[in-house]
Amino acid sequence: MAAEIAHTLVLLDPEAGTWERADPLAPQLRVDDLAPHRGDGIFETVLVSNADGRGPQAHARAAHLERFGQSARMLDLPAPDPEVWDAALDAASADFAAANPDIELFSVRYALSRGLDRPAGWVLTIPIEEKYPRQRREGVRVRSADRGYEAYFGQSAPWALIGAKTLSYATNMASGRWAQANGADEVLYFSHDGIALEGPSSNLIIRRGDELITPDPKAGLLHGTTQRTLFERAAEAGFLCSYQDLCAQDVAAADAAWMVSSVRMAVPIIAFDDTELTHDAGFTERMHGWVLASS
Ligand code: PLP
Repeated sequence: MAAEIAHTLVLLDPEAGTWERADPLAPQLRVDDLAPHRGDGIFETVLVSNADGRGPQAHARAAHLERFGQSARMLDLPAPDPEVWDAALDAASADFAAANPDIELFSVRYALSRGLDRPAGWVLTIPIEEKYPRQRREGVRVRSADRGYEAYFGQSAPWALIGAKTLSYATNMASGRWAQANGADEVLYFSHDGIALEGPSSNLIIRRGDELITPDPKAGLLHGTTQRTLFERAAEAGFLCSYQDLCAQDVAAADAAWMVSSVRMAVPIIAFDDTELTHDAGFTERMHGWVLASS
């Protein structure tokens, strides 16, 4: 039997600006909190590596915190104090690394709920799902799926919270099950008018020669921290990186394509609907190196 992983939890009082370590196996959240009932809150999932005795390193830390603040603004939640959340992230990561010195890669999920009479926050370590290391090597089969709104709908519909990382992920999870029931691993959402958006928990990047292209976040998707890191590094390496509207034919005709996110890093797309895509393993490796070298 695999050894039990010891997870760590830090609870935050966002109004008081304080945090404390807590038992991840003990009950913590009130049943009347608005997070379990309405998904009324926000979260981030950060990749943390703990290799070569350097201690835990959170990747894209600043970009995650910046997006957390942006999500809070969109939901009219109190602005998260970066110092407090940073300290809580470090405490949870350090405790996890001390208890699990052999685990080189894990993730930390932090969340802010509207709570009930006051906001509640927590920071919890989460294992990297077993499927991801395999998917990084072998790739994923992706199916297109209509997200049900027109591209750029969020620009005129702030209440739709498009581009905020909210705790309401039931439809995202359902899309994954639908993909699997239909012979694929992942869904790639398209707007109702046919513009590529994102996966249920990842962004799309395609390669055309020396050009990397990703959908414009304003079209109706979450602006990914991993995509941003990859674009920064790729631009330094001489690639032309841009945000563009892409249709299904652009994905099918790409030289290579990836689903990218904090816990995936970059997973190559080996099939898109009925089209087989080329798997550029060398470039995928290079992308992993860029993510792991980022702070
Ligand atoms: N899009 C959605 C809907 C997501 O949930 C995520 C991450 O979970 C991403 C994109 C990728 O974002 P990141 O690279 O910051 O992990």
